[in-house]
Amino acid sequence: MALKIIVCAKQVPDTNEVKIDPVKNTLIREGVPSILNHDDANALEEALKIKDQYPDTHITVVTMGPPQAKDLLIECLAMGADEGILVSDRALGGSDTWATSNALTAAVKKIGKFDILFAGRQAIDGDTAQVGPQIAEKLGFPQVTYVKEFSMNEKNITVKRALEDGYEVIQLQMPCVLTTIKELNTPRYMTIGGIYDAVKRDIPTWGARELEIDLNTVGLDASPTNVFRSFTPAPKGKGMMLECDCEKDTAKVLLEKLVEKHVIS
Ligand SMILES: Cc1cc2nc3c(=O)[nH]c(=O)nc-3n(C[C@H](O)[C@H](O)[C@H](O)COP(=O)(O)OP(=O)(O)OC[C@H]3O[C@@H](n4cnc5c(N)ncnc54)[C@H](O)[C@@H]3O)c2cc1C
Repeated sequence: MALKIIVCAKQVPDTNEVKIDPVKNTLIREGVPSILNHDDANALEEALKIKDQYPDTHITVVTMGPPQAKDLLIECLAMGADEGILVSDRALGGSDTWATSNALTAAVKKIGKFDILFAGRQAIDGDTAQVGPQIAEKLGFPQVTYVKEFSMNEKNITVKRALEDGYEVIQLQMPCVLTTIKELNTPRYMTIGGIYDAVKRDIPTWGARELEIDLNTVGLDASPTNVFRSFTPAPKGKGMMLECDCEKDTAKVLLEKLVEKHVIS
């Protein structure tokens, strides 16, 4: 089987504790190293596992971001992807999730027919988990989110979808969109040979013109989301261990503490 797989991957700051500019209400990215978003590494790994099974499979990784997001594509190529495409243009700056998925959907359409599109469940910076499902909706293809197990044969794909209290087993046909979580697999490392080859590769950059996208659907002005306020939540107080001789005493002390803190009266 010669499958065509697209992986959407985002370059994100390497921290969960990014600082926020109090005036602009945007993330301060300066000085913070960038990495391949964790869930997207799982997305690529699953695509690579399919390629291990069906070697004629072709994997295209697409990322939208500033010019330095090219480094992410080099990393993906060094892991084993066949092609990387950078979607980058000033006209796309300030896009919210709706505008981002418009640009990525246009890029996916330009790449052409595919069998599976993988995206991560969630980006660790924006954290909305909206972009993958939005792309699926805009393409009109079936989607399954939170994929934690994947298997396929010539006809069907079978996935386990994680739920809070269990899982669903879903069978679907290609083409489809799947969003992945970390339980799905362990991403492989880049190989030395892969890095050597990847840095020499030509990575095309597509801007608004190449995407032939309506400029009223991308960028800050086209973004329906408004961020009114961003803030860093105050750190939670330290936890407290109640150690008494018996459960009855523990319950009594717990009760007193809750009354003292006005949690109960
Ligand atoms: C008003 C507004 C203005 C914004 N301005 C900016 C800005 O100027 N610069 C900026 O960097 N961000 C900006 N953002 C944030 C930006 O909209 C989100 O980072 C972006 O839409 C992705 O959303 P997310 O991070 O929540 O991703 P999620 O929806 O959580 O991501 C899910 C998955 O979708 C895929 N995906 C998401 N984003 C990309 C991408 N860029 N390329 C490839 N795959 C992707 C990945 O597979 C990812 O795992 C802005 C947001 C708002 C609301």
